[in-house]
Amino acid sequence: MSCCLAAVVTAKASLSRSPDMNFFKRDAAARTRTLLRNAALFLAFSIALAASASCSSDEGGIESRAGEDTGALKVVSTVSPITSLVENIGGTRIRLEGIVPEGVNSHTFEPAPSVATLVADADLIILNGLFLEQPSLELARANKKPDAVILSLADKAITRDQWVFDFSFPESDGHPNPHLWTSPDLAIKYADLVRTELSALDPDNADYYSENFSKLEERLNDLDGRIATAVDTIPPENRKLLTYHDSFPFFSTRYGFDVIGAAQPSDFSEPSAREVASLIDQVRETGVPAIFGSEVFPSPVMEQIAKEGGAAFIDRLRDDDLPGSQGDPDHTYMGLMTTNIQIMAPALGGNADALDDFDTGLVFEGESNAVYPE
Ligand SMILES: [Zn+2]
Repeated sequence: MSCCLAAVVTAKASLSRSPDMNFFKRDAAARTRTLLRNAALFLAFSIALAASASCSSDEGGIESRAGEDTGALKVVSTVSPITSLVENIGGTRIRLEGIVPEGVNSHTFEPAPSVATLVADADLIILNGLFLEQPSLELARANKKPDAVILSLADKAITRDQWVFDFSFPESDGHPNPHLWTSPDLAIKYADLVRTELSALDPDNADYYSENFSKLEERLNDLDGRIATAVDTIPPENRKLLTYHDSFPFFSTRYGFDVIGAAQPSDFSEPSAREVASLIDQVRETGVPAIFGSEVFPSPVMEQIAKEGGAAFIDRLRDDDLPGSQGDPDHTYMGLMTTNIQIMAPALGGNADALDDFDTGLVFEGESNAVYPE
């Protein structure tokens, strides 16, 4: 508001120095002076207009949504688990805004044109990468400031020979399974990459980012151990996952689960009748007590597969929408992982007691500036 007022005052002051009306009666020198004055007036108007335009665009941007502009690094991130990891490292020293609203299909998400404004203002744009957010990446490339950095975490966290292809992400499409963050050791790698980039762009706060990284690394290592303990309570023959959305290959490798199948084809349609029949056979053959869906991808065929295969259908797993709402202690990456184990372990004949007193909250002190889109 105050900057809009300043812009109007600047324009008025310039107007009061407006040239007189006898332009055509003047000699050439006077005409030149008048032209220069007019050019100055036009420039003042342009500045005033630009200033007032930026005031109004700020209403949807980082400044008004996350407090006054303090010169803090402006960071934009895509899906919520990544926003949460960035939030934990950047703490109170960055201005962070997520792009992908929770509860939407991040794989097919097309950012609204207003996201271009957000990206154009950012110093750092953080994505998962591995083709997860291709439209957002293209929008970022087209609209970012020349010196703004795009950080694709998954592309840096693993090498090409560690890419995983499966039913939902077949090698023929060339897009590997991008859900690396479901394994806490890879989430630590993500956090380390974030710490390194924040420190490079904002060296004055490097110690703060490192301190938060150390706390988060310790917390995630603790989480990793607790998940392993919970998985130990599941009878070994039940450590099998059949999910609708295929987001747990890295999790499964980490904790010794066997991914027996995923129902969702690579084009996010429903599986064919033949595929459904074969999944039912797999559920029967393996005798797995439960199969899993997610709220983001409701699927009637999963109920059918469960019913005919003789398993329970649990439709509450999450991979990129955090539990609770912003400000809740479990609305974090740690909350997401904890909730999944609390759903998964009992359904497969074990328990999640090891996670009972786990602290899922943010690792830093003070008020978070992060904005999670609804
Ligand atoms: Zn996903």
